[in-house]
Amino acid sequence: MEKDVFCKIIDGEIPCHKLYEDEEVLAFLDISQVTKGHALVVSKKHYENFLSTPQEVMHKVMDVAQRIGQVEIKMFGAQGVNILTNCYPAAGQSVMHFHVHVIPRYNDEGGFILEMHDNSKGLNLPAIAKEIKDSLK
Ligand code: AMP
Repeated sequence: MEKDVFCKIIDGEIPCHKLYEDEEVLAFLDISQVTKGHALVVSKKHYENFLSTPQEVMHKVMDVAQRIGQVEIKMFGAQGVNILTNCYPAAGQSVMHFHVHVIPRYNDEGGFILEMHDNSKGLNLPAIAKEIKDSLK
């Protein structure tokens, strides 16, 4: 199977602007820089996405994402930050290797738009909640 782009970065076959590295986690600048400082945090071991990553690895990746978000607010002058992980192409995942976006937000830019519309009309919320709740047991 051909390596994905993040496996190639982890293996040193493609360069990156590295922000952090330990035995299990690598963080680097996203090449697209949706906003200034846009970072990716990835698991070194290949997992398809957040949903299929073992909890302890996922927690380590999220720890690093949290730290980068804190730094970008404190040191970098961002007014906010979006922590985002896309799962499967239907949700916008283009690289099938678990990664978390850290997207700093500045009041004066429009590089990233996240719109959430209210589509609750006509939905049976108690029934939906029950179905999910029962499946979590
Ligand atoms: P997603 O669409 O959530 O799967 O995000 C994949 C991200 O990987 C995109 O934001 C791309 O800009 C980023 N990306 C792809 N190739 C590279 C690369 N060589 N170096 C850094 N970021 C990359």
